[in-house]
Amino acid sequence: MDTIDIIRHFALDGKAVEVKPLGDGFINDTFVVKTDGPHKYILQRKNKFVFPDVPAMMDNIVAVTTHIKKKVQDPLRETLTVVPTTDGKYYFQTPDGEYWAVCLFIEDTVTNDVASTPDMARQGGLGIGHFQALLADFDKPLAEVIKGFHNIRWRFVQWDEALKANKAGRIDGLTEEIAFIEGRRKEMLDFWKLVEDGVLPMRVTHNDTKLSNFLFDKATGKVLCAIDLDTVMSSTSLNDVGDAIRSYANNTVEDDPDYSKVWIRLDMYEAYMDGYLSERKATLSESEKEWMAFAPLYITYEQVLRFLMDYIDGDVYYKIKYPEHNLVRTRSQMALLRSMEDNYPEMRKIVAELLAKA
Ligand code: ATP
Ligand code: MG
Repeated sequence: MDTIDIIRHFALDGKAVEVKPLGDGFINDTFVVKTDGPHKYILQRKNKFVFPDVPAMMDNIVAVTTHIKKKVQDPLRETLTVVPTTDGKYYFQTPDGEYWAVCLFIEDTVTNDVASTPDMARQGGLGIGHFQALLADFDKPLAEVIKGFHNIRWRFVQWDEALKANKAGRIDGLTEEIAFIEGRRKEMLDFWKLVEDGVLPMRVTHNDTKLSNFLFDKATGKVLCAIDLDTVMSSTSLNDVGDAIRSYANNTVEDDPDYSKVWIRLDMYEAYMDGYLSERKATLSESEKEWMAFAPLYITYEQVLRFLMDYIDGDVYYKIKYPEHNLVRTRSQMALLRSMEDNYPEMRKIVAELLAKA
């Protein structure tokens, strides 16, 4: 089906006159729709391999954005607005089984690609901190759109199976890497138990905190809202912080084969946390504050485990560019975790100082 035929199934204000592809997203196919009415729209084909239950995912997005709209000055600009189909659904399914969804195009905004400076890291922290703060009192259930996301107990089930199966016959050469994982197993399970036991509260998490998933107001230059809400789920807020720091504060890329270049940049860490905590500290629990600095270690550990597990499984999940790519990713992220462990006291100090700041 043509995109112009698909868009006709949505309840737009006006008639669609043009549908044009936008950028090259990793996950979805995105189009901008011009109409003869007052608004432009974003049309997206949702990736059904990444998201097995698109209707549930759209329900999550609507629940969360409806909550945000009640709290902001400009509800059409400060969060996404999902546009239903003419028969009142939040998605349209084509005869070939593909799912499509529409939201309002938010005008006069810019996006930034990567956080290369502390000031941009601060913007990323402000963005997710603001998003989480607006949702701190959200208490409805959300669907688990990706099963076991950041759940290390579930990852260990897969890990133990992977070691047992040794599918690619690679285990013998991985003594050091496997010991790295096993030596930290208990520490990481102890952290996750705090989530399971409710010591760390369930919150709305965004789960894709990269800088390009925030719109900035063209006029003020300030972060306006979080977009790309496909991965919104219930978990600990700390996951978002941990995942952001893993990428924003790494001195290099996640698969740098020169491990001597891998370390956590504390200037980036401090700037991100300054932005995040300025928005979020009023709504954080004591336990969240206590464990805040540990979050990047947990998420980086999980990533080491996932890269190594994929290498052991024979490179079936992550796309690789060369045969040892997953092993290089594993070792590079091991170096990052070691650097975080060395700097953990300093990271705790930074968090404590930012929390004490007026
Ligand atoms: P990626 O995988 O790269 O994160 P994606 O496929 O998940 O992309 P989105 O992040 O939802 O897609 O959107 C891609 C880009 O389209 C955004 O970075 C932004 O520039 C633009 N965009 C998305 N939604 C809107 C909107 N409502 N208003 C204006 N621009 C938007
Ligand atoms: Mg995106």
